[in-house]
Amino acid sequence: MNSALNSGRQAFPRLLEPLELGFAVIRNRSVMGSMHTGLEETGDWARVAEFYAERARGGAGLIVTGGMAPNREGAVFPGSAGLFSAQDIASHRMVTRRVHEEGGLIAMQILHAGRYAYSPDCVAPSPVKSPISPYAPTELDAPGIEKQISDMAESASRARDAGYDGVEIMGSEGYFLNQFLVRRTNKRTDSWGGGFESRMRMPVETVRRVRAAVGSDFILIYRISLIDLVPDGSSWNEVLMLAAAIEDAGATIFNSGIGWHESRIPTIATSVPRGAFAWVTAKLKRAAGIPVIASNRINSPEAAEALLAEGGADLVSMARPFLADSEFISKSASGRASLIAPCIACNQACLDHTFTRKVSTCLVNPRACHETELSVTKSPNPKAVAIAGSGPGGLSAAIAAAQRGHRVTLFEKTRRIGGQLKMAAKIPGKEEFAGLLDWYEAMIQDLGIDLVTETAATAEILAEFDEIVVATGVVPRDPMLEGQDRSNVLRYPEALADDAEIGAQVAIVGAGGIGFDVAEYLICDGRGSTLDLDRWMKEWGVADPEQHRGGLAPGGGEPESPCREIVLMQRKPEKLGRSLGKTTGWIIRSSLAKKGVKMIPGADYLSIENGGIWIRRDGSEEFIEADSIVLCTGQVSENSLQEDLSRRGIKSHSVGGALSAVGLDAKRAVDQGTRTACLL
Ligand code: NAP
Ligand code: SF4
Repeated sequence: MNSALNSGRQAFPRLLEPLELGFAVIRNRSVMGSMHTGLEETGDWARVAEFYAERARGGAGLIVTGGMAPNREGAVFPGSAGLFSAQDIASHRMVTRRVHEEGGLIAMQILHAGRYAYSPDCVAPSPVKSPISPYAPTELDAPGIEKQISDMAESASRARDAGYDGVEIMGSEGYFLNQFLVRRTNKRTDSWGGGFESRMRMPVETVRRVRAAVGSDFILIYRISLIDLVPDGSSWNEVLMLAAAIEDAGATIFNSGIGWHESRIPTIATSVPRGAFAWVTAKLKRAAGIPVIASNRINSPEAAEALLAEGGADLVSMARPFLADSEFISKSASGRASLIAPCIACNQACLDHTFTRKVSTCLVNPRACHETELSVTKSPNPKAVAIAGSGPGGLSAAIAAAQRGHRVTLFEKTRRIGGQLKMAAKIPGKEEFAGLLDWYEAMIQDLGIDLVTETAATAEILAEFDEIVVATGVVPRDPMLEGQDRSNVLRYPEALADDAEIGAQVAIVGAGGIGFDVAEYLICDGRGSTLDLDRWMKEWGVADPEQHRGGLAPGGGEPESPCREIVLMQRKPEKLGRSLGKTTGWIIRSSLAKKGVKMIPGADYLSIENGGIWIRRDGSEEFIEADSIVLCTGQVSENSLQEDLSRRGIKSHSVGGALSAVGLDAKRAVDQGTRTACLL
């Protein structure tokens, strides 16, 4: 064993330790958790197979697929993939064969959505509509219940035929089986409802029938809801009763389910502390007789190792981290953990895509789910490549170009790389961006990229290179407001500076992503609760389910006292925050609203004066008192370098904000940077 492998094994002995199941061995303690990527629904099975094969090649211990529908009524939306025909089985076989060729194991998740299905055909224990689907479910009668169980068992049996090593039965997150467990969604009075023993009959019977259908030498993971995070959720005693019965019914492994999808408590967003729910898994682990998987906001081998070393789990599920870096495990094992591209839990390219019916990918790794189409291959003609600007676009261009064998020089006019990412890293709840910057620095070093800081690239400097990528980013848009040059007015970069002097009353002009970020920062002087689990649990009202049903603290969360009074404004008449992430915007809006941030739509800015800003709304003029006014009025391209180059007839490629500031975000900049480098 070489020394790098040795150091990897020494650093992560538990993560890299195999798990013997008697009839199968999981080669390490990592589970690539289930994610709905939308790939299966493309019908391009070579693409699906390559996506999973790449993760198996990178060392993932046990892969769990995205949720597969057991039947039409259980599908999350009409057209969801499932094993319905011989052709489906043949397609899935392409996936399992490729994963096995790479030495991995793969289990298929069976996901019955129940009342969460986005379809008029949805069914549930009782006709209780969910807040996240417009359709009220049809209450199942006894034959209907039997059909659901037998369809799930049939689905598992077909999974075995398709070459899977196991199935995961989705019993948590508020889906169908979970809906039977609690009174808020199970109002039945027959033998499938009433007391807890009857309410848990459905998941237990499903596991028993699935086990009977697949035989004893097949992995059966049951994803159990440990903390529902909704009113009237399960008590801890009920969780333990269910766990014991599921174990008896034939489950091989428990996976941790955290929070129903309709919960108003965030469970996987970047503002959730790392490993925030590992303590609940540890409670189950103490009681369970089968291996237990920890889950949610675990994104580094160090965190996974620590969790396993504490004995709180036998395996660690990481879903999005395997999108960000398919080589998560192989890099951990070979002493290259600092080179693992970190999942920053932003949801921007994965979950936000899922909810808008787009195929998922990853902000930090645009190859995710595009493996068959976007390849960073060695160039037959290595060149001298200059990149001007080290924001996300420039950094990704530099990395991909260097990976292709080009000699890369990266120019950065400030002292540190990162561009807008440096600002993001200062925002409470976005601390993960700091880790992303560390990763970029490690990659620059590893790939031998020549980083030239405190140097603004000029046309003269760049002229000598074979290829030039302009990634000079954006500058704040000048809103040209009357009085904006007064000393009480700051542009957003100034407001986020360490030495900024900001008064106790603040008016923020502009409520895009940056306006909200600045509000988050100023409301707590840059000190949020993400790095302090106790504070975060108190703020959101998360309690031990052993003390309070569903893990909800009585009286809800206790928002921390705001440091300032903040008013956030925009000109558009619509509700503020529409442009925020589909799956994260509600968290930011709710957190600010709880801290008293006032949101004003439809504001016409008249003039800024000492002591505040005059606006007009609904036809009347209003003075918004503020000691400081922060301008977050969007951004425009900084493309003066590109213009200079083209004036001189020097060819260049622009990426990110330098190319277009309209609708810009890091996801697009990284994608453009990577794709441009692949063409050099
Ligand atoms: P933005 O989202 O375009 O928002 C600009 C804000 O300024 C809007 O509220 C706009 O609303 C207002 N505005 C525009 N022109 C104005 C003018 N001339 N006078 C007064 N107000 C004006 O831009 P951003 O907030 O700078 O964000 C830039 C990019 O960074 C975004 O595209 C976003 O994707 C990304 N980002 C995202 C997040 C996130 O949460 N995912 C966080 C930070 C940054 P009205 O026109 O209605 O006034
Ligand atoms: Fe993680 Fe964001 Fe990538 Fe999703 S898009 S995998 S949350 S880094």
